[in-house]
Amino acid sequence: MTKRDVSAMLDFLSPLSIVPGMGPKRLAALLDAGMERVGDLLYNLPKRYIDRSTVTPIGSAGEYTDRLCTFVGTIETVRVERGRRQRLRALLRDDTGSIELLWFSGVSYYRQTIRKGQRLIVTGKVALYRGLQMAHPTIDSAVRQDSAPVPFLPVYGMTSAMREAGSGERFLRKSVRWLLDNCKHFPQSLPEAVESGRGFAPLAKCLCELHFPSTLCGIGRYTDRIRYEELYRLALSLHFSRTRFREPGRALRSAELIKQWRANLPFRLTADQESAIATLLEDAASPERMHRLLQGDVGSGKTVVAFSAALPALGEGLQVVWMTPTEILARQTHKKINEWLEPLGMCAELLTAAVVPAEIAALRRRIASAEARFIVGTHALLQPKISFGGVGIFVIDEQHRFGAGQRVALHEKDPRADVLLMSATPIPRTLAQTLYGDLDIVTIKSLPPGRHTVSTHLVPEAKRADMERFILERISANERCFYIVPRIESEECVDDNGTFSKPLRDIETTFAALTQGPFRGVKAALVHGRLDSAQKERAIADFACGNVQLLVATSIIEVGIDVPQATIIVLENSERFGLAQLHQLRGRVGRGCGKSYCFLLTPEPAEGETEERLRSFCSEHDGFALAELDLRLRGPGEAAGVRQSGWDDLKVADILRDAPLFAEIMGDIEHRTGDCGAHGPRRRGS
Ligand code: ADP
Ligand code: MG
Repeated sequence: MTKRDVSAMLDFLSPLSIVPGMGPKRLAALLDAGMERVGDLLYNLPKRYIDRSTVTPIGSAGEYTDRLCTFVGTIETVRVERGRRQRLRALLRDDTGSIELLWFSGVSYYRQTIRKGQRLIVTGKVALYRGLQMAHPTIDSAVRQDSAPVPFLPVYGMTSAMREAGSGERFLRKSVRWLLDNCKHFPQSLPEAVESGRGFAPLAKCLCELHFPSTLCGIGRYTDRIRYEELYRLALSLHFSRTRFREPGRALRSAELIKQWRANLPFRLTADQESAIATLLEDAASPERMHRLLQGDVGSGKTVVAFSAALPALGEGLQVVWMTPTEILARQTHKKINEWLEPLGMCAELLTAAVVPAEIAALRRRIASAEARFIVGTHALLQPKISFGGVGIFVIDEQHRFGAGQRVALHEKDPRADVLLMSATPIPRTLAQTLYGDLDIVTIKSLPPGRHTVSTHLVPEAKRADMERFILERISANERCFYIVPRIESEECVDDNGTFSKPLRDIETTFAALTQGPFRGVKAALVHGRLDSAQKERAIADFACGNVQLLVATSIIEVGIDVPQATIIVLENSERFGLAQLHQLRGRVGRGCGKSYCFLLTPEPAEGETEERLRSFCSEHDGFALAELDLRLRGPGEAAGVRQSGWDDLKVADILRDAPLFAEIMGDIEHRTGDCGAHGPRRRGS
């Protein structure tokens, strides 16, 4: 295909392989960074720009030492200097003088790139060291004698994989330039009426100016359009998911099973649980579809509440489908639910990726024919091959761990079924209003009796040994300890400037160090995501029954593990966790009758925002207050429960700052689709 053929077809959905020089390695690195199609690359806006709007004559470089300058000149000599460390020296000359350019790294690359006689635009810091020098300048070829440099050079966010694959800054700039020059079909990203009504420049112009601005002061105008587009897309998807829930559901009124089940319950429900159950039963009995979020702090007893809400569906002969984000949680839930179903003469099926192939076909058939009445599972439930035989209610536990698309994929398997979402990660009130304008919410505020607040401490390195002694004492008194390490492998973290930050502690190294060091002789096990499910399950079962007293784990145990004898949780690299996640982890202890402890470790003394976050975590035990604090400290992108809703697709827009604009856009869309009023938001319960 000739270049003309290519660009005639080129649009935002074209694969990036269409870009000249884009080989498999570069594609893979970009894909990893979330860029797959032309549109992804064009919407990947620069983080900042290198200002080259003023070209300095090389002759006056001496007046600019230690400052950023741009020169345009011709390469006069290039030579590689061998020695302990290779370096590349090139001399750049214009009509007024010359300056030495110097490279210590990437020598072989630049030796091929920079040639004698080449005209270059270089930007970098001028240094005085045995003459004038510029080390590691940003370079760009100036093809024509008179060509002025692009005044502002875009700087993009980079992953180390992108750099290694050769899709660094220079390659991205070249590719974006090529796409902007060759792409003939820019999508209609906003309705024309909106575009002209708001006075936005066309998308092509906006993207050209945002990648290669002619002036910096115009940028705001072009950014406004992109911000609007992001909010518009989000509003549209929210609008559609809301409309879906305005379809009729079923009125599920059967009360018999609830009565039987409650007669056998070993504990008294709390007042909050009772009122949540009453609200959910009302939802079930109503002919509208239930679309409700059940919020409650870790350990507040949501499972019992959701289970009772599912009983009317069972009583009417419909299926209950219960989805959890991890296999461990699925197994644990399945076990507990079976204990409750048994006296009712029923049982639950378990569907996870671990079901052996020999059994899967039969299980699928039982599910499709509704012979399986109660199905607990993971993402495996979402597979296209799984269909149900009439679902009364979908329960989605830890719903914020699923993407919006996954939740919709599940609902769509039976569009008349009720949907109950559960979350222990409270959505800050400030956000709930915008995100869940018409999702009904019910909250369990109090914890079951006998729960204690977990005594939480920041442990300085100097006190580590004391902490270990304390843990040993508790363990010899037959209590158990979770020991959490953030990642599986130690990894080197490269930040924007290419500097390496300290590697995290490797979990296997940590495990070896703990079990050969301070906890020698303690029965210990290791759990992380790379283990197969049988291994994970064995370790957790051993911990639950007391065969193991020290469970070293990644945050995989964050959700749902329920071991009342566990009284201590240690968090290595606690600075890596957000408040919501810390709170979830801390909720793993304090479930039994013993006093419980949470110890926070950091590789260096916590400072600034990190210190504030960890200190407030020590004194604050309310999940809602922590969620609000997370929102304030870390911003909405990171805050609790926001990931799910598409807000993390916002790159330019900001949920808090742009909330009024978002509400306006939402209103516009509902107005245009004639959806205002008649089917307005439902409000029931609290
Ligand atoms: P979460 O809200 O975190 O999902 P669970 O539903 O897992 O909490 O409940 C935590 C533990 O508390 C479980 O062992 C459960 O059986 C127990 N529990 C729930 N409600 C009560 C209650 N009213 N009284 C005593 N224990 C309860
Ligand atoms: Mg739970």
